[in-house]
Amino acid sequence: MMNKDLIENIGDNHISSNVNTPLLPTAFDKNDDEKIKTIQHHFSKIMETLGLDLTDDSLSGTPYRFAKMYVKELFYGLNPENKPKLSVFENKYSYNKMLVEQNITIDSSCEHHFLPITGHAHIAYIPKDKVIGLSKINRLVDYYAHRPQVQERLSLQILKDLQTILNTEDVIVMIAAKHLCVSSRGIKDKDSFTTTIEYGGCFEKKAYRNEFLNIVNNTTK
Ligand SMILES: [Zn+2]
Repeated sequence: MMNKDLIENIGDNHISSNVNTPLLPTAFDKNDDEKIKTIQHHFSKIMETLGLDLTDDSLSGTPYRFAKMYVKELFYGLNPENKPKLSVFENKYSYNKMLVEQNITIDSSCEHHFLPITGHAHIAYIPKDKVIGLSKINRLVDYYAHRPQVQERLSLQILKDLQTILNTEDVIVMIAAKHLCVSSRGIKDKDSFTTTIEYGGCFEKKAYRNEFLNIVNNTTK
């Protein structure tokens, strides 16, 4: 067990330890219904500890709603079974310029405080022999966002998957997002947001990054 100062420090500095989401080997021993039951039980204890009366009509269903929301909605992306099928196609048009998919909604949660991270992802790649259906990029972002996350790791997980699926290093992922744990607690800054950029291949070159940033800056509303 870490001391409390270190716990706060890791949270406020949003330090992440690994590209992979840290999961227990037993992560999927329980099915969704069993997880909902367990979380429901423990969340009712949290509410009781806070002094809330769970016999009140308005509160009695909250532990179940909370548990179902965690397992089926906010954190569905923890389970690899929920990963979207990312079919790719042959690049028949031989399109080999930059393809940019932008303004993809980010709906995530910070793993240090379990509070929302909201914003947008902008992603580009330069196809080699394979192309991907555009909505599949959105689905992949949605999947990785629906885990307890750190923004840096979210960017990397999306990048690495796209590089593998598309069989090219030429991918760039930029995320700009607000963290509720920064705006509503701690420093309580309502306006700041965080931008992360991860890339490989030709995007190591400044000219490619600039072309991407120009497109994003000039066309994103
Ligand atoms: Zn946080």
